[in-house]
Amino acid sequence: MEIIAVANQKGGVGKTTTAVNLAAALAVIGKKKVLLIDLDPQGNATTGAGLDKNELKKSIVDVLLDETKLHKVIEKNTQAGFDVAGANRDLAGIDMSLSDVEDAPFLLKKAIELAKKSGKFTYDYVIMDCAPSLSILTVNALVAAKNVIIPMQCEYYALEGVADLIDTIRRLKAINEELHVRGVVRTMFDGRSTLAQDVSAELENYFGELLYNTTIPRSVRLAEAPSFGQSIFGYEKSSKGAIAYHALMNEVIKQSDEPKLFEAKVRAQFDW
Ligand code: ATP
Ligand code: MG
Repeated sequence: MEIIAVANQKGGVGKTTTAVNLAAALAVIGKKKVLLIDLDPQGNATTGAGLDKNELKKSIVDVLLDETKLHKVIEKNTQAGFDVAGANRDLAGIDMSLSDVEDAPFLLKKAIELAKKSGKFTYDYVIMDCAPSLSILTVNALVAAKNVIIPMQCEYYALEGVADLIDTIRRLKAINEELHVRGVVRTMFDGRSTLAQDVSAELENYFGELLYNTTIPRSVRLAEAPSFGQSIFGYEKSSKGAIAYHALMNEVIKQSDEPKLFEAKVRAQFDW
């Protein structure tokens, strides 16, 4: 089982779109068993998978507050083709609720470990959609995860802020040795824009082998799909957005199939 956090504390860079469509590609095309955990009080990944976030009987907040077990909040086989542990605005107060809890960063990791012991938690991939912050929720994701995919938009301030995320990842390596950046994916890419091309080249320089070859194009279809509670594969499977997320899935699976090669790349690039 591989646990991947999709994170970037910058807002609106395509985290949720990437988490939902990567999860869908892995499930629908890759035939993998996939769980998507929504760790954002906005609940966008929950909605994007076709669930009504305001109608959730139990959600991830109940797991973090130790009121229920992870497998009890999982909605099986959603319209988007994978299982979902949903979230909604009930999650917004979690920072306050956990302020006195000593093992607050470890709650999700513990919940996943407990679920694994039950024997019914048999996913190939667990994808976590993070909120645009480095709050206790994102810290929980980064403590539970094996690695991180960072979506980035090719715009002027793209690299600003990523330094903080990378710094957080470095610090959390002290408690989660395995944690590293799996890859950086360029999102909402507009190939006609010179600025986008320049920033893309800058990202290639900075991240080298850690930059996925696949670039996600700007596509209206990708933005429309969540309003139908569908992934791009359910909404328009021949669109350029679907083709791009399929290609990204191939790269992600290749990393899983060739862990040695992938780890060598990580080491060659940074000491992450
Ligand atoms: P937040 O930080 O608020 O959680 P996010 O990083 O999860 O945001 P998304 O919600 O995935 O970002 O995307 C932000 C907006 O851009 C959404 O309206 C989404 O539909 C749209 N969007 C994402 N990717 C694309 C794309 N490739 N082409 C066009 N629109 C996109
Ligand atoms: Mg989001």
